Amino acid sequence: MKPELSVLIRLQGIDLEIRKLKAEKEKLPERFNALNETIEEKNREIEELKDKLADLRTRKTEVEDELELELERLKKSQQKLTAVKTNREFQALSKEIEEIKKANKAREDEILQLEEQIEQLKGEIDKKKAEIEGFQKEADAEQKRIAAAEKEYDAKIDALTKERNEVEKEVKPDLLAKYRFLADKRAGLVVAAVDEGVCSACNMNIPPQMFNELLREERILFCPSCQRIIYALKTGT
Ligand SMILES: [Zn+2]
Repeated sequence: MKPELSVLIRLQGIDLEIRKLKAEKEKLPERFNALNETIEEKNREIEELKDKLADLRTRKTEVEDELELELERLKKSQQKLTAVKTNREFQALSKEIEEIKKANKAREDEILQLEEQIEQLKGEIDKKKAEIEGFQKEADAEQKRIAAAEKEYDAKIDALTKERNEVEKEVKPDLLAKYRFLADKRAGLVVAAVDEGVCSACNMNIPPQMFNELLREERILFCPSCQRIIYALKTGT
């Protein structure tokens, strides 16, 4: 193999490793992000429950105020009852008193029901808050883990980058420029072996004439299909 190609293959090996490490590093916060999304979601749910709770409390105050007024009215009607003169008046007033009592009983029932619903909502809110606390703890631990892992990745990537910069010096600038251009377009895989006339990267046939030229190793050749830099794979090399 041409020596400049073996240098390029070394360079590609380092670059692919850097690429792989960078991709892994980018995936580190996945769990952390998912946890934060869950926490946000739970917080939104809590806000909704709090709105409902406020509505229930408003309604309860309304009914309690009504009840208070109606109890006053009842008292007055009951006092009037002792002063009525005719049977007709007595019957009308008694009927009114019964109606007030009946309506107040309904108000008392509603207040009890509202109290139950309020307690239930408070319980739901507390449960969600506890869940958030659990997720938050997990997210905090996750954040620490990520920070430690990122440091490790950065150290590895730094070391490989230094190594790559050294290897790059051994490559001629025009070939390096071609390599970089192709690395961007071909996800880092630039140099491909040709095995029995077939490009190992794109699986297309190399024209026989070109393959013969490749075997002579006189100049750098490119795959006519994928434009990668190619070299002939020979048994024993
Ligand atoms: Zn190819």
